[in-house]
Amino acid sequence: MSPIYPGSVDAAGQRATLGVLGGGQLGRMFVHAAQRLGYFTAVLEPDAQSPAGLVSHHHIQSGYDDPAGLAQLAQRCQAITTEFENVPAQTLQTLALARPVAPSAAVVGIAQNRIEEKAHFTVCADVSGVSCAPYAVIETPDQLRAVQVERADLLPGILKTARMGYDGKGQVRVRTTVELAAAWAELGGVACVLEKMLPLTAECSVLVARGWDGQVVSFAPQRNVHVDGILAVTHAHEGNMPPALATRARDAAVSIAQHLGYVGVLCVEFFVVDDGSESGGLVVNEMAPRPHNSGHYTLDACDASQFDLQVHAMAGLPLPKPRQHSPAIMLNLLGEVWFDASGGRREPDWPAVLSLPGTHLHLYGKLDARVGRKMGHLTITGPDVAGVKTVARSAAVLLGLPGLDAI
Ligand code: ATP
Ligand code: MG
Repeated sequence: MSPIYPGSVDAAGQRATLGVLGGGQLGRMFVHAAQRLGYFTAVLEPDAQSPAGLVSHHHIQSGYDDPAGLAQLAQRCQAITTEFENVPAQTLQTLALARPVAPSAAVVGIAQNRIEEKAHFTVCADVSGVSCAPYAVIETPDQLRAVQVERADLLPGILKTARMGYDGKGQVRVRTTVELAAAWAELGGVACVLEKMLPLTAECSVLVARGWDGQVVSFAPQRNVHVDGILAVTHAHEGNMPPALATRARDAAVSIAQHLGYVGVLCVEFFVVDDGSESGGLVVNEMAPRPHNSGHYTLDACDASQFDLQVHAMAGLPLPKPRQHSPAIMLNLLGEVWFDASGGRREPDWPAVLSLPGTHLHLYGKLDARVGRKMGHLTITGPDVAGVKTVARSAAVLLGLPGLDAI
């Protein structure tokens, strides 16, 4: 892979252009990072009013499997990435025939399927030292019956569809074998995994960037608080978790990326469980083959963000070791923030929020606020952790955000 230098122009007079599949907020923040460096950008996204499409030099409005759209993307861009992990693997394969694509179809395919993902984590466990939760695959009625008879140890558990799950969707909590059968039917009898419900004491994630040449950099683990299966708060500061645990999580995430031969930004999510040890036990949950909501604080608290590293990795530029210069807390802003207690539409009190010191507001340009929809995030930075927490609490109260007791 020869590097694509920002601001360069090829023999045909075309400016160095980076492409992204998907027009959501992750694509938008990728576009911002690429443009800041001087690249032109192209977004392939069917929706006419997408967060990324609205800010990109080029918006190719087509489906992810439309050959004409893909040909146009390949023609316009020198390298292509994805912000949307459910992009068809065939799409990435097709594009890879014409241009460097990072991450590859093969690794995105693994991350798209919980069965393959868990198999990969199991292979990595020898090196990473971190396993996934006990689980069983359920793809057929015979497998369901076998699990009902032989795997009582997995109950209570969570039945998760192998594909297309996000923000807790495609998941049913089950306590008994009867509930398990009903849940599998409710999910349409599709390929699933039944995972043992673990007593979580915390959750964390690690962002890793790896280049075409195998160079790897990573951020310190961040601690994440979910409310109703959706990320609500990310703590990215000293003392967010025991240091021994942070080191283990970071090492495990790096070894998972290396083992995949990954190119780009990878986020690995972990559970922390009470195993009687001082720091707690670490269990790997899942991975996202792209920047991640839990890494948004890197935009304001680090000297290189997860999106900067995504740009560097795909373009074959060196990967600078990121340095976090400020403690940070990120608060997710879901559609709820635009509604009052009686369901009426309201405008959040931005003047009050933005007058708080160290607040960084990111809205994604989505026009209609809906409950559960990720509309933006607010990152709070400051000189010390105590001050950041105080401001984050004030902002959460002003915005009526959940998870206040977790800040
Ligand atoms: P996202 O894509 O938003 O990260 P997802 O829909 O892929 O989420 P998971 O990460 O598998 O789903 O689960 C969502 C949340 O549900 C987890 O962050 C955790 O809070 C809880 N959860 C999932 N699996 C388990 C488990 N085995 N034991 C206890 N809690 C769990
Ligand atoms: Mg998750």
